[in-house]
Amino acid sequence: MPAARLAPRTPRATRAMPLADVRRFLEALAIVHPAPRSELDYRDPYTLLVAVVLSAQTTDAAVNKATRGLFAAAPDPAAMVALGVAAVGGHIRTLGLWQTKARHVVALSALLLERHGGAVPDDRAALEALPGVGRKTANVVLNVAFGALTMAVDTHIFRLGNRTGIAPGRNVRAVEEGLLARVPPGMLRDAHHWLILHGRYVCKARRPECWRCVATTWCRYSGKTLAPPAARPPAGAAKPKM
Ligand code: SF4
Repeated sequence: MPAARLAPRTPRATRAMPLADVRRFLEALAIVHPAPRSELDYRDPYTLLVAVVLSAQTTDAAVNKATRGLFAAAPDPAAMVALGVAAVGGHIRTLGLWQTKARHVVALSALLLERHGGAVPDDRAALEALPGVGRKTANVVLNVAFGALTMAVDTHIFRLGNRTGIAPGRNVRAVEEGLLARVPPGMLRDAHHWLILHGRYVCKARRPECWRCVATTWCRYSGKTLAPPAARPPAGAAKPKM
């Protein structure tokens, strides 16, 4: 097979949405979620950090199920280190990559104690120096825990950035920078949540549900869906006579 056919597919290019429409698009999403928040359960910056580390390639619902017991047993870095990798692993076995995540959670807790007195730093470089913490995780913690105007680009936001034209970009960093430049500053803090929730529940990966989308007027996607897929008859239902 020619090498070109093995290259990863880049998202279908959509023309960039005019800046005035970026505001209107987000205002429409804000009507649906006027006070958006993370769907991860957490009590403080530390439990938020751990929950976000655990959420890689896993649903928030699965993380919440696992952290219920984990945070009861270890609500802070000292307790997490005392719990140890094996016991942490026992709480999170239902999550993908649980062994690596258990090691990361204990190691990052030890580093928080060693370098930051057990507190979560509100500094990107210090966050990204922790095991298991990359740019996206740091962006979520800075935004949600500290109110920083960051944009954590996950799979939903990357898709929406390109599909809708709100911030087209060939890679995650380009979409992040596009959103930081194009979203009005007063909307940046919540835009991350609006876009994730919209991508999760309406502008879905396989088939966006444009017929019930509140932002369709401003979206520039050329393949908008007009109606839900036809309902299949229940199994065993009588076939219509021809
Ligand atoms: S109109 Fe369709 S493609 Fe555009 S944002 Fe809404 S659901 Fe997504």
